[in-house]
Amino acid sequence: MTRLCRFNDDRLGIVANAEVIDVTAALQVLPPSRWPLPQADLLVMHLPRVLARAHEIAPSAPRLPLAEVALRSPVANPPKVIGAPVNYVRHQAEALADGGVNFEKDVKTIAHYGLFLKSSTSVAGPADKLLVRFPDRRTDHELELVVVIGEGGRDIPEGEAMRHVGGYTIGLDMTIRGPEDRSLRKSLDGFSVLGPWLVTADEIGDPNDLQMSLRVNDELRQEASTRDMIFSVQRLIAYASQHYTLCPGDVIYTGTPEGVGPVRPGDHLECVIEGIGCMNIAVAGAGRS
Ligand code: MN
Repeated sequence: MTRLCRFNDDRLGIVANAEVIDVTAALQVLPPSRWPLPQADLLVMHLPRVLARAHEIAPSAPRLPLAEVALRSPVANPPKVIGAPVNYVRHQAEALADGGVNFEKDVKTIAHYGLFLKSSTSVAGPADKLLVRFPDRRTDHELELVVVIGEGGRDIPEGEAMRHVGGYTIGLDMTIRGPEDRSLRKSLDGFSVLGPWLVTADEIGDPNDLQMSLRVNDELRQEASTRDMIFSVQRLIAYASQHYTLCPGDVIYTGTPEGVGPVRPGDHLECVIEGIGCMNIAVAGAGRS
């Protein structure tokens, strides 16, 4: 049961209530790396070993107030950032109630679109600047549960999928609205926010039954349960692994529920997912600084 964060200048921390225990020294158990690097996030690849060492040194490690650290993405180098388009039914269910809509035939969901990939350079943490780079375009928030792959694999059966989960984190799949391909509109620097920390898989009982909410400047925009996902976490892992080899540190954004909306410079976002915590992000400004 661990909440693991990356903070300040690539320091490693265990989050305990309102404190961060600085266990950066645990990274010494990582093997020396050499070219070519494995297709993996090195920390996630060796997570059990790092966690064991971190808990060993935690009792005598320095502690800092959580409120005073800058939180980075808990996964520094995800080999793949995988997205799930249209994986929530609630707003389609409303359309169905109006009659005349054949859900299987007329409503396009993840079963039709499959998955998409975002650039790994779009990954950022809650303390990094979330820039609205094209202020004349609508830039939306999408709150999503994110699965962090621990042990990689391919053709993973749904029944074994949970063995491949290293942990979970909160994700913001930021999006520019418009006709361009998703891989362009969702891949701007900072558009894949991950945080505030990684919770190990054992902290989350059933990932398909978590409440979540997103507020912009205290206004409730998104409120849903992962119960409403069309593809469950297990099915997403199985489906993704039929197409790409999953690697340690790959992150899967599991899709956003209804209530997406625009953000503007100066906005404050509060993202909550049950069992993980609360992630606060400021929209820093506009332009291409
Ligand atoms: Mn999304």
